[in-house]
Amino acid sequence: MDVKVGVLALQGDVSEHIDAFFLALSRCGCGSASTVIEVRSPEDLFGCAALAIPGGESTTISRLIGKNGLYEPIRQFPGGIFATCAGMVLLARRVDDPRIHPLGLIGMTVDRNAFGRQRESFEADIPVDGLSGQPFHAVFIRAPVATVVDDGVRVLARVEQGIVAVESGKHMALAFHPELGGDTRLHERFLQACGL
Ligand code: GLN
Repeated sequence: MDVKVGVLALQGDVSEHIDAFFLALSRCGCGSASTVIEVRSPEDLFGCAALAIPGGESTTISRLIGKNGLYEPIRQFPGGIFATCAGMVLLARRVDDPRIHPLGLIGMTVDRNAFGRQRESFEADIPVDGLSGQPFHAVFIRAPVATVVDDGVRVLARVEQGIVAVESGKHMALAFHPELGGDTRLHERFLQACGL
């Protein structure tokens, strides 16, 4: 099956997500005409089976989603959403920072920059529920955590500071950056959960 994946390209590590999804699509055996496109406007979402919201600065991405008229189109988007770091903040229903207008698509409370300044960036091998093989080598960069998840949200991974990976329906949100490092197991699992 040929699949089109969109990557929200307003700010953040967009090209890394595009490369990782191309790799995941080929590893999943999706059709050779599968593609990954940049999404900047509501029209760009047309025909996309899934959408990635990258890491970056969630206050900036939130502002640009509003400016580009993307809040309702993303909320109504029928496909799965794969959100990392700042993307996880945006997908939440409740965020500790009033400057963020979250999309509210996953029932969870998220705290931004939950690891504090001294530990803005670190890497750790973490077990992810349902992921076979080695623990996932997770890169955390000024990462958020989820502190509360509502019914229906499955926790996939947690560290001492809180929850760092969740799945809810077709959506997946990760506090770390699976688009860095070439391990596409989480992308592949997401694509499978989307029926792709
Ligand atoms: N701390 C950032 C924010 O909340 C997220 C960092 C990231 O995406 N790497 O906006």
